[in-house]
Amino acid sequence: MSESTEHIKCLIIGSGPAGYTAAIYAARADMKPVIYQGLQPGGQLTITTEVENFPGYPDGVQGPEMMEDFKKQAERFGTDIRWGLVTKVDFSSLPHKLWIDDSKMITADAVIIATGASAKWLGLESEQRLNGFGVSACAVCDGYFFRGQEVAIVGGGDTACEEASYLAKLCKKVYMIVRKDELRASKAMQHRVMNTPNIEILFNHETKEILGEKTVEAALLINNKTNEEVKINITGFFVAIGHKPNTDIFKGFLEMDDVGYIKTIPGSTKTNVEGVFASGDAADKVYRQAVTAAGTGCMAALDAERYLAEKGLH
Ligand code: NDP
Repeated sequence: MSESTEHIKCLIIGSGPAGYTAAIYAARADMKPVIYQGLQPGGQLTITTEVENFPGYPDGVQGPEMMEDFKKQAERFGTDIRWGLVTKVDFSSLPHKLWIDDSKMITADAVIIATGASAKWLGLESEQRLNGFGVSACAVCDGYFFRGQEVAIVGGGDTACEEASYLAKLCKKVYMIVRKDELRASKAMQHRVMNTPNIEILFNHETKEILGEKTVEAALLINNKTNEEVKINITGFFVAIGHKPNTDIFKGFLEMDDVGYIKTIPGSTKTNVEGVFASGDAADKVYRQAVTAAGTGCMAALDAERYLAEKGLH
């Protein structure tokens, strides 16, 4: 370890509900937590609108506003909140080593992972080429640009239904492209989209290509039952097919499932590496809610505190 290497007792990676809740608990336990906020400070809730199911907000709250509240609460107890992305780790020996923005190296006694998850894409060349030019994974962020126009959204889960309903309020028409003959979403959400007159659900359809030179002009779909091709004229193409955990940098050190969700010892946030704890969506493919992320963030801070105490480091 060189003279200039910074050593941190409790490092938290990520600034969504899990990261900030871990910080609140860790700071109040005098663990001097440092948070690196990551690529999307505040996490996924900063790109949503109304949150109605987080307890304590009887009238609902805007996602970005709620995350500001989380941040303020973490700051109030002295959390050191920093810009920056953890780009590499080495968990092979103690203390753990981490690199920020591919340059600065730090060491940490306890590491709490709260890196969340990111939107998945279909993987089409045209989707990549037109990303930001009509292709988006966030209806709430970009729907406004398509006011009065015809758009499509891919997916049949709760997210796709919720975003289709949101878009239906702004747009003339919304096509939902669903690869199966049923929606995966909850009954309430299914009911909502099926009863919205300007949403048309195209069951058994997959996207072959998104068409357009500079911006989206149409999408070429294929009916996976009949092989019939259909072209829909649209200017916006939204993708809502789920998320991928942001855990690539931990590969090789932490045990994960085949998708990349970090495995924790049941009933705890402990990973297979001592002193490394995982919370929030990075370790949860089942619940993925703000409140469950906050809950596991709390667990991670408590697990880290016990670990540090056992090691005589706190
Ligand atoms: P889900 O994994 O639930 O749904 C993904 C959808 O995308 C499925 O319909 C799936 O189809 C489809 N899909 C996946 N890959 C492809 C592909 N390559 N091509 C075409 N379609 C594809 O993700 P969500 O983001 O919708 O939801 C995640 C979790 O969050 C769920 O537990 C959900 O209930 C929850 N949630 C709750 C909300 C609420 O309560 N207000 C709001 C939003 C989400 P298939 O069914 O064929 O696999």
